[in-house]
Amino acid sequence: MSETRIALVTGANKGIGYEIAAGLGALGYRVGVGARDAARGEAAVAKLRAAGVDAFGVPLDVTADRSVGDAVRLVERQAGHLDALVNNAGISGETGPGWVQDPTTLDLDTVRAVVETNVIGVIRVTNAMLPLLRRSTSPRIVNVSSSVGSLSLQADPDIDVGPIMAAYAPSKSYLNAVTVQYARHFAGTGILINATSPGLVATDFTGFAGPRTPAQGAATPIRLATLPDGGPTGSFFEDDGVIPW
Ligand code: NAP
Repeated sequence: MSETRIALVTGANKGIGYEIAAGLGALGYRVGVGARDAARGEAAVAKLRAAGVDAFGVPLDVTADRSVGDAVRLVERQAGHLDALVNNAGISGETGPGWVQDPTTLDLDTVRAVVETNVIGVIRVTNAMLPLLRRSTSPRIVNVSSSVGSLSLQADPDIDVGPIMAAYAPSKSYLNAVTVQYARHFAGTGILINATSPGLVATDFTGFAGPRTPAQGAATPIRLATLPDGGPTGSFFEDDGVIPW
């Protein structure tokens, strides 16, 4: 097996995903840059390569079976195996004024789109990439979730958890729940899978309003993608700490 560690980051053409790719590249990983738009993906690959990262483009729409199947074959051709999969691609879905998704008037197509990307997309990509991950000696899976997916935090009236987001926040709760089921299934196999919240990060996603930089948001996903053997699995991390489900 090749000694070069291989990573794939979904939604890596910009924002937190781009910085995860850059950070893993700086650690010596060969990085597949997942992007649903090939041109945006290639622009990111060029930028990463200019920064010294061994990057290759992976056209990848997490909502499309065919795209994901093509991506598996591309990673297999390029690298033969996968050490780290970072499921970063995500959408908020349509919001009203104040970034609110009011549960009482929610557009069902918005719910479907958000779940299709943030939950089903992660399951689709993870299961498709699993044969390549199983060829790694230390497979790692990171699901980029959000603290708004924490039911404990959302249900605590004493904590300011931001606007009501009745499509997006539950999609991350669902993603967290799925992460736990994967962790249970992988117990004892050496495959480590965790969810993480990047904090509030200034990206397109937040209208560049967050206090954190994308690089700061990428730090914990990178740490979880590079966990040593015997590291934690089935947990939900923000920075150095575990946050409640
Ligand atoms: P971003 O700048 O909007 O980037 C999102 C990325 O996901 C883009 O590359 C986007 O591609 C990609 N994407 C969306 N739908 C996709 C699909 N169907 N297939 C493949 N890629 C798709 O957002 P970000 O802030 O970096 O967010 C990254 C992750 O962090 C998301 O999962 C988000 O929920 C999570 N998060 C962000 C924050 C924050 O404060 N920013 C906080 C908590 C959690 P295009 O460029 O083609 O649209």
